[in-house]
Parts: sequence; C-alpha cells; structure tokens
Amino acid sequence: MPKKEVLECSFCGRKKPETNLLIAGIDAHICDRCIEQAHGIVIEEIKQTGNSELLSDLVLHKPKEIKAFLDDYVIGQDQTKRVMSVAVYNHYKRLLQKPSEDDVEIEKSNILMVGRTGTGKTLVAKTIARMLNVPLAIVDATVLTEAGYVGEDVESILTRLLQAADYDVEKAERGIVFIDEIDKIARKSDNPSITRDVSGEGVQQALLKLLEGTVVNVPPKGGRKHPDQKFVEVNTQNILFIAGGAFDGIERVISKRLNHQAVGYSSSINTDNVDKENLLQYIIPKDVKDFGLIPEIIGRLPVLTHMDPLDAATLRSILTEPKNALVKQYKKLFEMDEVELEIEEGALEFIVSKALEYKLGARGLRSLCEAILTDAMFDLPGSEDKSLLVTKEYAEQSLNKNLLQRLKAVS
Ligand code: ADP
Repeated sequence: MPKKEVLECSFCGRKKPETNLLIAGIDAHICDRCIEQAHGIVIEEIKQTGNSELLSDLVLHKPKEIKAFLDDYVIGQDQTKRVMSVAVYNHYKRLLQKPSEDDVEIEKSNILMVGRTGTGKTLVAKTIARMLNVPLAIVDATVLTEAGYVGEDVESILTRLLQAADYDVEKAERGIVFIDEIDKIARKSDNPSITRDVSGEGVQQALLKLLEGTVVNVPPKGGRKHPDQKFVEVNTQNILFIAGGAFDGIERVISKRLNHQAVGYSSSINTDNVDKENLLQYIIPKDVKDFGLIPEIIGRLPVLTHMDPLDAATLRSILTEPKNALVKQYKKLFEMDEVELEIEEGALEFIVSKALEYKLGARGLRSLCEAILTDAMFDLPGSEDKSLLVTKEYAEQSLNKNLLQRLKAVS
C-alpha cells in the first residue's frame, strides 16, 4: 500500500497540519505565512523601485472612464467633468512615471474650480476620490491662518489627509485635498496691505509650498493641543490639490474685461453673443488674479474650470438621475418599512420651483424633500399603509404646514 503523502509548503517545508492554510498550485503548495512574507517583499520592492503600477489600488483610468464615472453622480457640468478627467488622468500618469528615463518631468496639474455654492464642486472632488480609491481631505480655507495666529495652521490640511488615510503616509501622499472657499483668502484690495493681513495673503503664501510639492512636518493629531506628539513627514509632491470657491462678484470682473476686449483695438469678442446668465464660462486666470488671488497661487493651480449655474432642468435631473439621487434614497428608506413611495412628476416640478424660488440650489432640494416627507416618515412605519403617493397637492400642503410651523416658531 502506498504511503499516504502529507502535503507541505514548497517554500518553507511546513507540513499541512502546522499551517493555517495551504494553497495548492500546479506543482507546488504555499502556506499562509509564506504568502504574508512574499506580500511584504512585494511592497518593499514597490517602495524601492517606485514601480507603483504594482499597487493594486491605483488603477490608471482613461479620461473617458473617469468622465463616465462622474456622469453617474454629477449632473451637467460637462466642461468641468472633461477638464477634471484629463487633469486627474495626467496627474496619475505622472505618479506612474518611472524614475526618469529622459529629463521630461510632468508637472502637477492642481485644479481651481469656480462656481456658485451648491453647484457640485465638492461632489466632483468626492466622486473622483471615490473612483480612484484614494484618501480625500476636505478643508475650509476660511479657518486657515498664518502660523502663530488663532486658527488652524496650513499644515492641518495634511493632518486631515493623514486621518483620511488611516495614518498610512504613503497612501496620504497619493491622496486628494479639496480646499473649499479658496476665494475667501483673496486679498481684499489691490493695495498690498500696510498692516499685516492675517488670513489673506499670508495664508496664500503658506499654501504655495504645499501646492508646489514639499516635505512638511505634520502633527498627526493636529492642532497645538498635543505638543508632545511626534511629527510625521509628508511629501506633498504627488498630492492632487483641488481648490474651489464661489468668487462672489467675479462676474463683474469678467464682464468688465469682456467689454474692454470688445472695444479694444484687437476687438476679438462680440458682446452680443455673450451669455450674460453664465459669465463664469468665460473665466480666465487674469480674472482670478484681479479678484485677489496672488499670481503664484494661480500659477500652481494651472487647471482652471467653472461650474454652470443649475437651471430647472438640471435640478429636476438631480432629484432622480444620479446613482444615489435623493428620490432613490427616500424610496429606499420607505422600502425598509415595506412602504412603496411614488412621487408624481408634478410634485418633483414643484420641489424644483421652490428650490429656485428660495435660491437654494441643489442643496435646497434635500431640505425641501425632508420637509415634505417628514410626516409620512413619522407616521407610516408600523402602520397599515403600505404605499405613499406624493402628488403636487400633497407636496404643497406638507411644505406649507412645515413652513408655517417654522414661521410660527419664530414669530
Ligand atoms: P458646492 O461644493 O459647489 O458648494 P456641493 O458639491 O456641496 O456644492 O453640492 C451640494 C449638494 O447638491 C451635493 O451633495 C449634491 O447632492 C447636490 N448637487 C449639486 N450639484 C450637483 C450636480 N451637478 N449633480 C448632482 N448633484 C448635485
């Protein structure tokens, strides 16, 4: 009788009973410990050679794929989606570039997005980070001040990114930072100020280095409350920075420039064709400079793009079309209580008209839906009713009731 063979790991020779797991290959076996060890070697190899193609979570998506992914979540904003897709693609191509075979170094393509609040700037940044599976930190430029002043140091941006990356420095170094309200740190007047400008130009100067790529000592716990913590070195060279802002009043700057251009001797523009409802589409870096961002910052945010204002048709689509559209979310919530929710077209149009009337933009859609559906979300769970049809009348009544209650509360 042939002796029963005990399987063993072909790498370390451990017998099957001594392992937790033994995986069979064509002519060999490998145990769990050897797999772990081999994984460690691969990671070391990547670090040393910079061959990040091996990093499974960094897949280079083509611009069209990035745009298609954005289309699933962001309605309209076509120009921004195209520009962003290319910028992100180039940025990550840069990351995958092998240590130089020639001397061509691809520069960073940080992005500046200009558009009214609630038009989807944060959403675009979030969606891109989700697609690339990289950590994302969203920070508000208004809280930043120069070191030594009350407020947060610019380094706190990287603390956030580290936190988003679960303190994995390498992951953070490939992440995305979205700096919101960048326009709020614009210099308030053209006159380089005599007194020190704590939150404006000084912060812009501090941001410069970060945008450009530098090694920063980052307090991992943030703030100045933990003086004993050990600093972590973070290199910002491969971090993609996306800055966004509403730049209130920049339309005037654009319009002035367009008029100048129209009357100037090189009259290249016919003002009759200018779409006055959406002047942002004509924005150029000079307008941002005239608004008060220092030229160095603008230079380090070389990709400039704008967000279109949201019209009724876009708002209507935002309600139902994105993958996680509001209406889909509410349907799901009701479904969990076995209630079937249906919202009639008339009701949807009513919600859109109110969002426009109150100038609430897309952000208002949510609070309007909430006001309209709260009573039903309170009453229906556990009741006999297994369906809810929201008609225009129902929407109007619920909203009026809730609004009236609020008005009463303040009167
Ligand atoms: P911003 O950063 O420009 O102020 P946000 O990205 O925070 O605006 O948008 C607020 C909310 O409005 C988002 O969570 C999203 O639900 C919705 N929204 C805004 N614009 C769009 C859009 N173009 N497509 C889909 N949803 C949008």
